Amino acid sequence: MSVPDPTALGAEMLALMHELWDHPRSLTGDGVRRTLAGLDGHVAVEMHEVPTGAHLYDWTVPEEWTLRRAWIDGPDGRRIADTAEGALHVVGYSEPGRHTLPLAELRGHLHTLPDYPDRVPFRTSYWKRGWGFCVSERTARSLVEGDYEVVIDADLAPGSLTYGEAVLPGQGGGEVLISTPICHPGLANDNLSGVALLAVLARVLSTQASRWHTYRFLWSPATLGPLAWLAANEANLGKLVAGLSPMCVGDPGPFTYKASRRGDTLVDRAARLALARSGAEHRLLDFVPWGGDERQFCSPGFDLPVGALMRTPPGHYPENHTSADDLDFVTEEALGESCRMYLDVIELIEADRRFLSTCPKGEPQLGRRELTNRMGGQKGDDHEMAMFWNLSMADGEHSLLDATERSGLPVATIRDAAEALVGAELLRPVETRPRPVETTGGDAEAA
Ligand code: ZN
Repeated sequence: MSVPDPTALGAEMLALMHELWDHPRSLTGDGVRRTLAGLDGHVAVEMHEVPTGAHLYDWTVPEEWTLRRAWIDGPDGRRIADTAEGALHVVGYSEPGRHTLPLAELRGHLHTLPDYPDRVPFRTSYWKRGWGFCVSERTARSLVEGDYEVVIDADLAPGSLTYGEAVLPGQGGGEVLISTPICHPGLANDNLSGVALLAVLARVLSTQASRWHTYRFLWSPATLGPLAWLAANEANLGKLVAGLSPMCVGDPGPFTYKASRRGDTLVDRAARLALARSGAEHRLLDFVPWGGDERQFCSPGFDLPVGALMRTPPGHYPENHTSADDLDFVTEEALGESCRMYLDVIELIEADRRFLSTCPKGEPQLGRRELTNRMGGQKGDDHEMAMFWNLSMADGEHSLLDATERSGLPVATIRDAAEALVGAELLRPVETRPRPVETTGGDAEAA
């Protein structure tokens, strides 16, 4: 697999993030739909709608929230918060309405960050009715006594929850899921960087001549989105050989890989190997039951092989969930390196292919088949070493990834050598055996 230049990938991701920046994303609503439609130039995304009231395991899809604009005008005529100026200014899922109220009462509806007086926080209230605004601490301190006019021009009504999926079919029977949240408005690293990463990854993978696995890309609102997808796909989960949940892939921090709940699955091996071989600074974390979409995929009723490859995890950088997580906080370089690392991991996941040697008793004679023209006494090159490793691993149990790990050779060298051996009829592919399906009895009714 030829890997494009990380600088170009980073520029493509950042340009897409600028295009998508203004869409008012939330748990539901048109901001999500417009964001998904905005991925069109990269990949065709199929939108799925799950109606209000649908049961998703222990959760129920709430009413749809459509924000047009929300603002607060002060007694001195000053507009102190306006979603036209910044998407974070209104608490997500604020109830529509108009209010006139004195400063003391207004303060009970204002959220600030006293430690960072110039930043506006990001707050939501999906499950508790009410309304609120987010302003900088500096603005809150400057407010004068008097009556304030509050307008929340929005709808909160039965509708649906939207998620998007794109599928790139492969030749083998296995599937790889790459899933990212799409519910944050006006924040760049968390989670618009992941939205852009998936679009660019899908575009790049769609140009590859062939894929072994099928790739499923999922953009969905946090918690409910993955649950809606799981409910709709429960019968097919046995095909899932690996999954990744990208979040926060645009900050300049070192890479972080958080393992799947099982910790020793294909994606865990591929991510650790890609990071180790890249030479990039990184840390490896064990699974914890909080974080991104992997929380749902790795819950014990599913226990899917899904890990999270990030830069700085959410909650671990002070700009997270504040107006400082903007398009200037992410860098083209970090975005591009992240995309490149994902492609490296995917290339290793693609090496999850098994072969049987047609000549397992002793070494086959390579020279007779013109697979080597080395003279006796001469040391073999990487391609020849890769052939020996492939022949040694070709017991139907070990994969090209095993050969890559144990040989220390690049996966591309291992793959090319395997192709040469297949061409010489010394290897034949073993059909993949999807994990048996164990449905867990979810009673969901996702559309
Ligand atoms: Zn977040």
